Amino acid sequence: MNKKHPKKIAVVTTGGDCPGLNAAIRAVVRTGIYHGMEVVGIMQGYEGMINADFVPLNSHSVSNILQRGGTIFKTARSERFKTTEGRKLAYESISKAGIEAMVVIGGDGSFRGIEIFSREYSIPSIGIPKTIDNDIYGTDYAIGFDTALNTVVQVVDKIRDTADSHNRLFFVEVMGRDAGMIAIYSGIAGGAEAILIPEQKTRIEQIVKILDRGWKRKKSSMIIIVAEGDDAGNAYEVAAEVKKRFNQYDTRVSVLGHMQRGGSPTCSDRVLASRLGVAAVEALIGGKNNEMVGVVNNEIVHTPYSEVVVGKKKFPYDLLKIAEVLSL
Ligand code: ADP
Repeated sequence: MNKKHPKKIAVVTTGGDCPGLNAAIRAVVRTGIYHGMEVVGIMQGYEGMINADFVPLNSHSVSNILQRGGTIFKTARSERFKTTEGRKLAYESISKAGIEAMVVIGGDGSFRGIEIFSREYSIPSIGIPKTIDNDIYGTDYAIGFDTALNTVVQVVDKIRDTADSHNRLFFVEVMGRDAGMIAIYSGIAGGAEAILIPEQKTRIEQIVKILDRGWKRKKSSMIIIVAEGDDAGNAYEVAAEVKKRFNQYDTRVSVLGHMQRGGSPTCSDRVLASRLGVAAVEALIGGKNNEMVGVVNNEIVHTPYSEVVVGKKKFPYDLLKIAEVLSL
């Protein structure tokens, strides 16, 4: 153990929210206290760093939050942190409060911000990946992804019930501006007839072919999952294009929206958040800094921020083939 490990650390949630943030906060706070550290929470993401919006925490402060969605610290986007002046103010607040190291629970943007901050100021920090999109390089899974998937699959199952009763075709739009991970996983788990993702060019004729095949086989319902960032447009636009060429079914569109960010984290997300929270504090104790902790092949790994922000996570293209085979 590093004898000179930080005695006072801060933990912050920044960027977009997702389920499992509270579980990660709890793990960081309890691990810090376990190792004799003082732990403070930073409110409102990087804005709270700039405004010195800090709250002292004890073990009780994080009681009964493990299962709650959202984040007890709130989260925010901060335009000021993108400026040299904003980061200077953040550094001044942090050092004035005697904070020696930080745990940043964030996404790609948050890591870009803290990577720049870490080059300017020597406050060690460790990142914990969270995003429902699961597109952060350096970890197989990010906190929030599994819960979002379970939410989507529950809804798709419900849509299937009503679609089947009325012989309808549904276009279901799920989150994923740049990544089709939610779409591909939920599409397979929900038995979707087609899955449209930003990573692959969408061809309307191909969708029409699939729908026509299903219609000829007398399928009583069909579901197409559309990632919000698909190149052919949003679910309404795709539905309109398809309708011009295939009009055998009564068609409906359902945009799932922000419900995908809420809710009680699943068991997998709670365990992942707990593992990563413990690993982050232990990394600081071990003298590591400016790295993100992640889980790869079920092992904890550390990846420097500089790699996380440029790395491209591999998309599981094999799942596209599986979806195609199973949607016959
Ligand atoms: P996420 O971390 O969920 O991807 P954002 O992309 O909104 O969310 O980033 C969170 C915050 O990180 C931003 O509001 C901003 O304060 C900071 N940030 C993002 N990109 C940069 C950057 N290039 N330079 C400095 N700070 C950044």
